[in-house]
Amino acid sequence: MIGGMSWESSAEYYRVLNELVREEMGGLHSARCLLFSVDFAEIEQLQAAGAWEEAGDVLAAAAQSLEEAGADLLLLCTNTMHKVANTIEAAVSVPLIHIADVAAEAIRAAGITRVGLLGTAFTMEQSFYKDRLAAHGLEVIVPSSADRMVVHRIIYEELCLGVIREESRQAHRAIIGRLVAAGAEGVVLGCTELELLVRANDVAVPVFPTTRLHAAAAVKKALARDDLELLEAPPESEAAARLLARYYEELTVRFPGGFDVDRTVAAPSAELCPPFGCFLIARLEGRAVGCGAVRKLDETTAEIKRMWIDPAVRGRGVGRRLLAGLESAASRLGCRLVRLDTSSHLPEALGLYRSSGYSEIPPYNDNCYAHHWFEKSLGF
Ligand code: GLU
Repeated sequence: MIGGMSWESSAEYYRVLNELVREEMGGLHSARCLLFSVDFAEIEQLQAAGAWEEAGDVLAAAAQSLEEAGADLLLLCTNTMHKVANTIEAAVSVPLIHIADVAAEAIRAAGITRVGLLGTAFTMEQSFYKDRLAAHGLEVIVPSSADRMVVHRIIYEELCLGVIREESRQAHRAIIGRLVAAGAEGVVLGCTELELLVRANDVAVPVFPTTRLHAAAAVKKALARDDLELLEAPPESEAAARLLARYYEELTVRFPGGFDVDRTVAAPSAELCPPFGCFLIARLEGRAVGCGAVRKLDETTAEIKRMWIDPAVRGRGVGRRLLAGLESAASRLGCRLVRLDTSSHLPEALGLYRSSGYSEIPPYNDNCYAHHWFEKSLGF
């Protein structure tokens, strides 16, 4: 995140990024992120002086620092400074998610073609933002010159200073009303502080809050970066056997008394194949990195078995997605309930089950390696 422009909206980015990652991944997951926060007074002076090249150099240097620190995706947390997006992109090898592209995609997805644009005078009056929206086939309407002055003043004199005034909200409602009367079918809150003031229910048409949309696009891209496939495979296949062997090896090391598969509750291969069950292999970027199985305990209950993720890829949400895949497989087998047991020596597995909606139940089997038994209703 290249932020601080202003920090009032960077704080919002930070909050939204973390909330979305938690929604997506559950539990205590939060967004792994870096923030380079500039001194907005310096940037604002450069804006006012029209010194965009210099401002671009400052932000490009910030982007380079972030790339060096390990960022693999960049967000420029202001609409206005996307005027220098090209300078930033030229300075780094990691992608910059352009805020206007994100807004345009959301507008198109809502079936809207004519939008009103609110933002700083730079954003509303210059071509860099309007042309980018227009390139997505959108027609852009901006407020009158008097209204633009009001929006610009409120951004710099109030919102960027953390001041939220009811009369300014009313002024925005009136300005948006005039945009709608001029034909706007939706309104882009094209300044990252505006959504601190204007809420969806202030407006009669759909609003497109660029901070929220931008942060959501980053979370989507960051979490979808890997290419996870869940493939059904026979449990005797070579690929499955290799993963199971690594799973047993890990249990042997992690369980204080070791692990012997023959002492655990039997799950014969035939029970892990249709119509009694299913065995899944998780492949990440083409490499087998995990496995899991379900088998029917009775007509409506399935048990999750043999779930294992390669330690090298833990923390990337593979386990959660594999678990969801196993639950879907159980549903396809006609089950409404899934159960599983696990050991207190596998805290990450306990955490995953608890944060994925599993509740602890009394023992339903006599597995000598189990300390916890869980159940989840598949909700249909
Ligand atoms: N954050 C605002 C925007 O999204 C305005 C502050 C700035 O000029 O960067 O455009």
